[in-house]
Amino acid sequence: MKAIVINEFGGPEVLHQRDVETPAVGPRDVLIRLVAAGVNRFDITTRRGEIPYAAVSFPHILGVEGAGTVAEVGSEVTAFQIGDRVVPVLTISRGVCRHNPCYCQLGWDNICRDFDKLGLTSWGTYAEYVKASEHNVVHLPDALSFADAATAMVATATAWELTISRTGLRQGETALVNAVGGAVGSAAVQIARLTGARVIASAGSDNKLELARQLGADEVINYERQNLTVEVLNLTDGRGVDVVVETVGGRVLQQSIEALAHNGRLATAGSVGPSTVEIDIFRLLRKQAWITGTHFAPKATIRTALDLLADGRLRPVLARSFPLVAASEAQALLESREFFGNILLEIDP
Ligand SMILES: [Zn+2]
Repeated sequence: MKAIVINEFGGPEVLHQRDVETPAVGPRDVLIRLVAAGVNRFDITTRRGEIPYAAVSFPHILGVEGAGTVAEVGSEVTAFQIGDRVVPVLTISRGVCRHNPCYCQLGWDNICRDFDKLGLTSWGTYAEYVKASEHNVVHLPDALSFADAATAMVATATAWELTISRTGLRQGETALVNAVGGAVGSAAVQIARLTGARVIASAGSDNKLELARQLGADEVINYERQNLTVEVLNLTDGRGVDVVVETVGGRVLQQSIEALAHNGRLATAGSVGPSTVEIDIFRLLRKQAWITGTHFAPKATIRTALDLLADGRLRPVLARSFPLVAASEAQALLESREFFGNILLEIDP
């Protein structure tokens, strides 16, 4: 099969299209013929060799997001048939594990201590085919295109975890969504709108803020030019925000913590800037505020995300699409942060 292969860690230049053996399926495996793959920030971290907890063996294929049809099933697979429209799930669990408590059985398969990740410990989706075990494949709703599923599923699920599962945003509350130009941010603005909350969006460029308004943001803040804490307090009569969806880190994270209202909740899915900040614990406890996070999303939320996208309640924003062979260019665009929404790799039949 054709695939984008890396044989070393490094910049976008280490990605090369090669012919490799199509993975052989075991009894419980499903082989998916991919139509589309998403370009995720996690791919970049893996490519740079910055994942501290996992070893990558070369040659390796990146890619945590993709969509396609079932091309082959193992002898014991019952839930899938050849031709089914499916997506692989990036957090790979067995559905039950040896740890006590078993987080998989509690519905938190995304924090299973036994798990692997697609595109990290196994070959990912920058290829014509990807293999996944039956337990880590989900059917795709008919109304959802391969491209939208491949690019928006993970970001939408993560945004749902941040906005709903972890922080419980409700009608009548106010949310601050940082980095609204990113895939998670653009989904979180729309999810926050669905709850009936008031939405303040932030980004580092006015272009992105204009697009955020089109997605439904009520107010916008440019965190390169303005102090987030000051602007949030101005916009909320000094009260602060009930929920923050955070993916930037550094100064933006620090100012967001200070912008929390009493009983405010901040949830993070990572950082592009520094991941450590100083916290004045007295200021936090006086407000009874929470700081939490999510590690991707459990499979149940992946299904929720697919349904939200399929029935049109969420509109995925496609920034740009590239042919598979141009994967390095697609990753360079993601690293530049000069885009709004999701980046797609189209895989030719
Ligand atoms: Zn487990």
